Amino acid sequence: MAAPAPAPRQNLLDLDRAALERFCLERGHKPFRARQLLQWIHGRGEADFAAMTDLSKAFRQELEALAQVRVPKVLADNIAPDGTRKWLFALEGGNAVETVFIPETGRGTLCVSSQVGCAVDCAFCATGAQGFNRNLTTGEIVAQLWWATRCLQQQGTAVTNVVFMGMGEPLLNLPNVLPALRLMVDDLGYGLSKRRVTVSTSGIVPAMDRLRDGADVALAVSLHAAEDALRDELVPINRKYPLAALMAACRRYVAATERRMHITFEYVLLGGVNDRPADARALVRLLQDVPAKVNLIPFNPFPGARFVRPAPAQVADFQRQLQSRGLLTTTRRTRGDEIDAACGQLAGQVMARRRRAEARA
Ligand code: SAH
Ligand code: SF4
Repeated sequence: MAAPAPAPRQNLLDLDRAALERFCLERGHKPFRARQLLQWIHGRGEADFAAMTDLSKAFRQELEALAQVRVPKVLADNIAPDGTRKWLFALEGGNAVETVFIPETGRGTLCVSSQVGCAVDCAFCATGAQGFNRNLTTGEIVAQLWWATRCLQQQGTAVTNVVFMGMGEPLLNLPNVLPALRLMVDDLGYGLSKRRVTVSTSGIVPAMDRLRDGADVALAVSLHAAEDALRDELVPINRKYPLAALMAACRRYVAATERRMHITFEYVLLGGVNDRPADARALVRLLQDVPAKVNLIPFNPFPGARFVRPAPAQVADFQRQLQSRGLLTTTRRTRGDEIDAACGQLAGQVMARRRRAEARA
């Protein structure tokens, strides 16, 4: 008879502070060992237990046997002429996800993925067009930041902001996203401020409330239309959670966050579809009683897409229409499109798609 397979080693990137303390306690170690581990693994980027010299030799050997810091293999690492950098990570089962670093003066933003593909299937999104395979584990989400931090350190750059705007709908993977968020804002983890970690959602209303209770980080809502008929077409989840429910959830979120953090509303501008003066007026009406900032994203094309990007003058005009009615509005500069790293262009490698309805359930 074949010997039973050894138990898989626990990936410590899966554990936030509370879970790491439990891991230590269950093995007879004091909780401060968990704090030391957090500092080594996330603060200093160390994956090798042997190098963690302030842990006893016996504890290090125990860790070697039971645990590991498992970072997915990097399949590709590309840098665009504007400095935007994209990594492609290999995941088990032949899948791959993408992570993008966007350097700007005074800050560096890491755009992380939370799922392999996405089940929401927005009409204008390359990730949605790929279908959905599975959720990322906490460790697979955290590994993107762990790896980027280490790589960037070597060139004297740092990640100052994290946005969940890569592949996937983070609020359909909340049980794995929440511990990742907690590690990102933990002083002994990555020490990022809550205002510098942003979860972007297409509007999964019940999960917005759970996010607020579990980690009240900054929120971005992908709106793209200010009326239900159009939003039903562009963002199909709107049929389940229409605008009235979405806006009520936004108001609850703002009311509960420290110092009433504003919400960023993302609005992909699709030529001739949602960029008319009537759309601007409807958007202003919709957002009148929420602390809001609008971020316009001129559509980024991808093969097979059925939309066009409006001309720059049209984008500027739409922005002016919002601003003249008192709505704080910025337009996102397209970064990294030479390496297909711009918003909505991330496709990775999605194996054996599941049926979308099943994935959304
Ligand atoms: N699923 C989440 C987060 C990932 S998408 C969400 O939808 O919010 C991140 C942002 O990129 C979203 O605002 C999304 O609408 C936008 N986006 C998707 N496809 C795009 C495209 N082709 N061009 C420009 N922005 C796009
Ligand atoms: Fe999913 Fe966001 Fe793309 Fe919509 S825009 S399909 S929610 S990743």
